Amino acid sequence: MSFRRDVISKLIFSWARRVLPSVSDTEREALEAGDVWWDADLFTGDPEWTKLLDTPPATLTAEEQAFLNGPVDELCAMLDEWKINWELRDLPPEVWNFIKQKKFLGMIIPTEHGGLGFSPYAHSEVVRKISSRSLVAAVTVMVPNSLGPGELLMRFGTRDQQSKWLPCLADGRDVPCFGLTSPEAGSDAAAMTDSGIICKGMFEGHEVIGIRLNWHKRYITLGPVATLLGLAFKAYDPDHLVGSQEDLGITVALIPTSLPGVSIGRRHLPAMQVFQNGPTWGKDVFVPLDYVIGGKERLGQGWKMLMTALAAGRGISLPSLSAAGAAFSARTTGAYARIREQFGIPIGKFEGIEEPLARIAATAYLIDAARRLTCAALNEGHHPAVISGIMKLHATERLRTVIDDAMDIHGGKAVIDGPQNYLGNLYRGVPVSITVEGANILTRNLIIFGQGAIRAHPYLLQEMNALGDTNKARGLDAFDKTFWVHIVHSFKTLFRAWGRSWSGGVFAPAPNDAGAVTGFYRQLSRYSAAFALCADMALLTLGGKLKRKEMLSARFGDILSELYLLSAVLKRWHEEGRQEADLAAVEWCMATGFRTMEQRFADILANLPNRFVAIMLKFMIQPLGAQARGPSDKVIHACAQLVLEPSVARDRLTQGLSHVDDDGGPARLEKAFLLVTAAEDVFKRMHAARLRDADAAVRQGTITQVEAEQYKAAQEAVARVIEVDDFAPEALSPHEKAVSVQVVQERTETRVAG
Ligand SMILES: Cc1cc2nc3c(=O)[nH]c(=O)nc-3n(C[C@H](O)[C@H](O)[C@H](O)COP(=O)(O)OP(=O)(O)OC[C@H]3O[C@@H](n4cnc5c(N)ncnc54)[C@H](O)[C@@H]3O)c2cc1C
Repeated sequence: MSFRRDVISKLIFSWARRVLPSVSDTEREALEAGDVWWDADLFTGDPEWTKLLDTPPATLTAEEQAFLNGPVDELCAMLDEWKINWELRDLPPEVWNFIKQKKFLGMIIPTEHGGLGFSPYAHSEVVRKISSRSLVAAVTVMVPNSLGPGELLMRFGTRDQQSKWLPCLADGRDVPCFGLTSPEAGSDAAAMTDSGIICKGMFEGHEVIGIRLNWHKRYITLGPVATLLGLAFKAYDPDHLVGSQEDLGITVALIPTSLPGVSIGRRHLPAMQVFQNGPTWGKDVFVPLDYVIGGKERLGQGWKMLMTALAAGRGISLPSLSAAGAAFSARTTGAYARIREQFGIPIGKFEGIEEPLARIAATAYLIDAARRLTCAALNEGHHPAVISGIMKLHATERLRTVIDDAMDIHGGKAVIDGPQNYLGNLYRGVPVSITVEGANILTRNLIIFGQGAIRAHPYLLQEMNALGDTNKARGLDAFDKTFWVHIVHSFKTLFRAWGRSWSGGVFAPAPNDAGAVTGFYRQLSRYSAAFALCADMALLTLGGKLKRKEMLSARFGDILSELYLLSAVLKRWHEEGRQEADLAAVEWCMATGFRTMEQRFADILANLPNRFVAIMLKFMIQPLGAQARGPSDKVIHACAQLVLEPSVARDRLTQGLSHVDDDGGPARLEKAFLLVTAAEDVFKRMHAARLRDADAAVRQGTITQVEAEQYKAAQEAVARVIEVDDFAPEALSPHEKAVSVQVVQERTETRVAG
């Protein structure tokens, strides 16, 4: 008999069991998918910075690097996004062949099954480089390496299934797709009506026990050209052929699309991106039970399998694409703002342009920092479900901000479509990344904190498991052990958060010898403690109701996300050798992140339903309200300079992007940028003399003949950048076939600024 356990804990245990909200099987499986990593440290309120800094950085093997410098560059040189989207409406056949032959579709499949066996980081680097050249090609390569038949077979397939299917997926003999979404079931996949009835049927001349499937899926990437469909459906066993249970739940099977009853081939057109995407139907399609991934034992385990695969996949594909888009925008927009002049000076020198330019540069720094950190965790074998949700949401949301800014800075140049427009397609494609792999509003409002609070919280999951234990005595015992440790932890967190907030974080922990960013570590330690305290109080006062308080949940999720993203920024700065030149980007990210967190705390405290607790929390962590102001004008100015001049810092910020030395928009821009910046002094003298004619300037002795040639070459290059495409009217006529589009590029009227 223990007084604490059998009296006090028992009372709390019985009350909590009554009020604990019911968790559906699909919710539980989603919650339990993957594991936790740095998110759990942030949730303790006292993160151990040495643990973060000691995590080995993600690196490439020599073989992976050779692939990036070889086949990936070759592929990039074959890609012409305008032609693909507007003329061919598909990747050209030679690109499809190249992708298959070089095993781009089997990057993650182990070498023993004929794939490339690449690490998550190598996979990410490949997707990132291709994304900076063509979104259509990137999505085509990304999908088979993300959630789909390959990943599911590797994790859950039987040995026979792996040796049967993986070699064909690795070398492109099979093209996979994955069908989960149906017209009635989008975000709520569990609402699907696609069904599989277990029954006897004939397959390849023999009577076997199998599944008769009926489905209607839509939005399926690679669906129209897939030869192997990974299908999610609800399995039923009305005749009890495999057991006593009738309703088995969501199941995943492999369906060769050549089977009778399967319909594929029609296409959607997602945001004018022509990667293959379309609906698929199945009518009474029969497959044997061993087409279920993992075999008979995995019937009904589909949701758990999908969530586990998603826990890793979400951290790679879209974050890599977003990192590429942000870095590409930073490189091109900085260059454009430098060579484009208005009112006699480069537009990048106007403060109004510096502000969005700094946002682009710093965001590119942040997204890539977070991508690398996440890949480092994945390379170490983690499947951090909450972190991959954070990455998917924030990388794509921030790409949206970046591309909006980039479009604005380019003005009409980015609005007018044609082969010379290197931004328009990225702008159009962003909503796809926002919607897929868990739509962003849902991910922000429901998943990140909803899952984070349970998975990453040091004690909550253990308490919930104890409360849900069918063996009450065992549950009470486990609850008693965890609950009191939790209480002690909560008190420590309370004093920690209070102390660090009132002292402005100046005594909060930071790693030894952190240099110029020591103060930033201290602030993150301070906000982490405040977050842990507020999260605990919200969970205590709202319990299961917090699930429906999506606005509160989203704010908590934003704070957790900022803590993760800013940790990644500090780690990147440390790993890249603490570059002085990059400090402006680090400072911008920190100041912006601190402002966001303070605002979210203020909003939480203003809206927490338990007003007494809210007022107490406000007194402890934010007595004066939100104070952080965001980056200063000085930091914004310094940050914009990172991309306005050629420099090592600019190259570091945008490393690993594809560069094809053709006559396309990005290549023309880079050339003009280098010529203009090299001739800066000549431009200055011409401006000072109020001259535009180089020959006249030579005659007047303002510049030399050599400088005049330099000036003319730069002006010529600028003119080629600022020109936009125009088309013969019949080429844009709806009666004309798209393939006959004739692009007329006339630059005779181009006015040269200067
Ligand atoms: C180009 C493209 C490619 C795709 N590829 C594939 C594929 O290969 N395979 C596949 O199976 N699917 C694919 N999808 C489907 C994609 O995963 C779904 O579009 C996505 O799950 C959202 O479903 P929905 O579009 O029906 O939107 P809905 O589920 O109807 O959602 C509409 C809005 O409501 C929000 N919302 C929903 N529930 C909540 C909630 N509880 N709280 C707050 N907000 C909520 C969502 O965030 C969204 O903003 C693809 C979609 C697109 C557009």
